[in-house]
Amino acid sequence: MIFNPLYPSLNAKLYHQQAPKPLQGARAGHFNAALANELQWTIEEQQDWVAICSGQKTFAEFPPLAMVYAGHQFGQWAGQLGDGRGLLIGQVLDQQGKTIDLHLKGAGKTPYSRMGDGRAVLRSVIREYLAGHALNALGIASSNAIGFTTSQHAVQREQLEQGAMLLRTADCHIRFGHFEWINQYAPELLNEFTQKAIEWYFPECLTAEQPILAFVDQVIERTAKMIAQWQLVGFAHGVMNTDNLNITGSTLDFGPYGFMERFRPNWINNHSDHQGRYSYQNQPSIGHWNLWVWINNLVPLAKAEDREQFKQDLVKALEQFEPKFLAFYQQGLAAKMGLPDFHKDSFDCGMAFLKIMQSEQLDYTQSFLLLQDKQYRAIQDDCLNTRQVENFLQQYHTIRENQDTQQLDAAMRLVNPRYILRNHMAQTAIEAAQRDDFSEVERLFDLLAQPFTHQPERERPADLAPLPSDVPDVMVSCSS
Ligand code: AMP
Ligand code: MG
Repeated sequence: MIFNPLYPSLNAKLYHQQAPKPLQGARAGHFNAALANELQWTIEEQQDWVAICSGQKTFAEFPPLAMVYAGHQFGQWAGQLGDGRGLLIGQVLDQQGKTIDLHLKGAGKTPYSRMGDGRAVLRSVIREYLAGHALNALGIASSNAIGFTTSQHAVQREQLEQGAMLLRTADCHIRFGHFEWINQYAPELLNEFTQKAIEWYFPECLTAEQPILAFVDQVIERTAKMIAQWQLVGFAHGVMNTDNLNITGSTLDFGPYGFMERFRPNWINNHSDHQGRYSYQNQPSIGHWNLWVWINNLVPLAKAEDREQFKQDLVKALEQFEPKFLAFYQQGLAAKMGLPDFHKDSFDCGMAFLKIMQSEQLDYTQSFLLLQDKQYRAIQDDCLNTRQVENFLQQYHTIRENQDTQQLDAAMRLVNPRYILRNHMAQTAIEAAQRDDFSEVERLFDLLAQPFTHQPERERPADLAPLPSDVPDVMVSCSS
């Protein structure tokens, strides 16, 4: 690995150095060799992956550290948070020269653990491992992971579970909540911290007329794009607290997330989210809310006499969130539908299709595949209200008339996945892994690596459909 330590140069108030606390009897779970290669792991490092992914081996080039941050959880100020069970064990260059963080999750208590035990369980580690991998393969900016290890170490959740560790990779660990912590507890650090964040992640903004506003524009745009992509693929993050969003707009901190199956816009996959704050359909407005909290924390960057103007500029920048989100979303939906994004009726037609999926409780992923494969009859056969489908199809064909349908069809095949990580798929892999059988994790890992490619030899019928409606949904526990 080629180390490029950035965060150790931050003010020492922002982190705590400590070594990981290994689990007893750590052993291999799964290893992402392709990612290790991208991150330039040597053969020796790859051979040592179990020791590295279980906290037994760290690197002199990078003293492991836990970062402190704060945040709003479920809309409420939560005060100081921080890496309560994860340690940054490296920042390394990938083959493109980009700095990627290595963050070991489940590595023991830190000063920021509050009431927690500093550990992660195998169940949640596998869910995070597969989700990050799936999103990356879908082309959605996200953390990923080099691998995970399991152990015999018992960890108490609703019941005793196996302790595990995940070596997460991410392009950035600077969260909105970092700015909240600084303003609350160490406001003197705000200028330098913001300057470094811009230098590291948005250096092109340094030469802009107003670097901070250019930076804000970028963060808003990246966040809008990420959430539009979540909506398009049917991903619900589940815990969009301000400490779980980072400034580069890549998906971070998987909790009780889910990929939507039957189309239900008000779907809440996080069972402790009683009000549905983080339901699928609320994600864009919560993204906006989180950005609003974030920009408020930038206000002190302006000199007192410029502050009013700066506030107005920030508000104006945030007004761009909605049009930016909609532009990404509308363009993406048109591509999924095989419709030209410039046509005035394409969005309306996309909405009509979603309405059918909603009223008929169709599978989101499969419905787009049927449309892509021109199985119009099959869509109709799945529906009770056939008139609604006929009207939709009429509108659909009218828009596609006189268009380059070959090109539109080719575009569809690039954006409509055949495979998403359905909750029951992850659950089956977890239950096997808890019996020390990682073959299902491996199968899903390979399947989800190419979500747009039909893999008849690898797929199973259960990968392609929701569980029958008389089988209760897999209840995803919020504990992790
Ligand atoms: P999350 O909702 O997973 O993003 O976690 C919110 C905060 O709780 C973060 O500061 C985590 O580091 C911390 N946390 C979550 N689980 C644990 C745990 N088992 N032990 C210590 N801290 C934890
Ligand atoms: Mg978090």
